[in-house]
Amino acid sequence: MSIGIVGAGISGLHLALRLQQFGVDTTLYTPQRPEDIRDGPPLNFVTRFHSTREREKALGVTHWTSGEFDNPSMHMYLEGSGGLSFQSRLPHPASSVDFRMYLAALLEEYQARGGGVEPRETTGRSDLADLAGNHDLVVVAAGRGALTGTFPRDPARSPYDTARRRLAGGLFHGVLPADPVGMTMHMVPGAGEIHAPTYHTFGGQVTVVLVEAVPGGPFESVTGRDHRDDPDGFAGHILRLVGDHAPTLRERIDEQEFALVRPVDMLQGAVVPTVRHGWAKVGDDRFALAVGDAWIANDPLTAQGANLGSAQAFLLAEALRTAAGPYDERFCRTVSERMWADAQPVVDWTNMFIGDPPPQVTALFAAAAADQRVADAFVENLDRPHEMWHSVRTPENTEEFISGARLVRSGT
Ligand SMILES: Cc1cc2nc3c(=O)[nH]c(=O)nc-3n(C[C@H](O)[C@H](O)[C@H](O)COP(=O)(O)OP(=O)(O)OC[C@H]3O[C@@H](n4cnc5c(N)ncnc54)[C@H](O)[C@@H]3O)c2cc1C
Repeated sequence: MSIGIVGAGISGLHLALRLQQFGVDTTLYTPQRPEDIRDGPPLNFVTRFHSTREREKALGVTHWTSGEFDNPSMHMYLEGSGGLSFQSRLPHPASSVDFRMYLAALLEEYQARGGGVEPRETTGRSDLADLAGNHDLVVVAAGRGALTGTFPRDPARSPYDTARRRLAGGLFHGVLPADPVGMTMHMVPGAGEIHAPTYHTFGGQVTVVLVEAVPGGPFESVTGRDHRDDPDGFAGHILRLVGDHAPTLRERIDEQEFALVRPVDMLQGAVVPTVRHGWAKVGDDRFALAVGDAWIANDPLTAQGANLGSAQAFLLAEALRTAAGPYDERFCRTVSERMWADAQPVVDWTNMFIGDPPPQVTALFAAAAADQRVADAFVENLDRPHEMWHSVRTPENTEEFISGARLVRSGT
């Protein structure tokens, strides 16, 4: 069996490394060398939860297992009048490592283990058809870029056709870690969210400050201006916004020290939450299957996209290992539906949280702020999307979740 994989993000690399472990012949098509990835701007600020870290362990990827890379806690703040907050320690620490370091190291690992890499940018359907001629199946793991045109948007699974948040975020000096160390999210109704996780980059530990702005709301004053025009002014603007809307985060910031780590360490953009058709015919009897953001793009609010891409990679690798072939439309349909069963809770949960919050979510946050057992159960579910979605999808489910958390965690 021979599998072509287009794209060296987490989805493509976890798939390539897993198939390599299974003895499957793979070729990774990527225009980027590890040094290009390291030298580029940040594409995201990913936190990887325990399940993803367990998959890394299974892959023999051990670069970030030491406690210094851990993000053990989650702090949530609902700002504004009637504001509330809660925090909890995750059952197992998450990890937030600069993806430029992470992906470059995984690409090197794959190559060091004998993995084939073709330095090539795949430009569209006819190019994919070319690749498909050399493989039993081509997997497109090229993110939200040019190849998404091959996989049409699935309107039944994509309730939004525009971005619900505009993003501006960077790596900053001058921000104390939260106490206890971890990720923080400040939700400001009508405006958006400000995330401030501890993050590990090339020079050591820093803090991400990521603003998610509701279009037309007050945070757009940050996301709507280009940071390259005036990097210092931009940092000052973020500082004022934090001061106005997230006072506990402002207390962590030393105004004199607050600055981007390097001018390159900033990103701006937006994600249109989209689910695409999971596969496409690209040649005579040849198919391309999409995974990761190439298939499903979620807003980063719930910190799930990379974790989901890794989970999909493992599911697909297992399906390839156990199926005798051919890797035709039937195979693509079956595996895509299997992966959708895993992805749907992430999509629904994320789309709910970037919409107007339903009353049960507000009730859940109030219950978590009032009762540590509920806070612990909610934070535990950040790495259990099925359980998270089940707990918020209806008011009745949320009530059941809250009373269940009180009972189970009391040991009664
Ligand atoms: C600000 C921000 C914060 C985030 N935070 C989190 C978080 O905390 N937790 C989480 O789980 N997720 C998070 N995400 C989402 C996460 O970054 C993505 O879901 C994940 O990285 C997608 O991985 P991927 O491998 O599918 O795609 P990508 O990471 O986009 O990788 C695709 C690769 O393919 C390459 N490529 C593109 N086009 C081509 C082509 N034509 N030919 C060959 N190669 C190509 C690209 O250069 C890239 O290297 C965040 C996203 C953003 C924007």
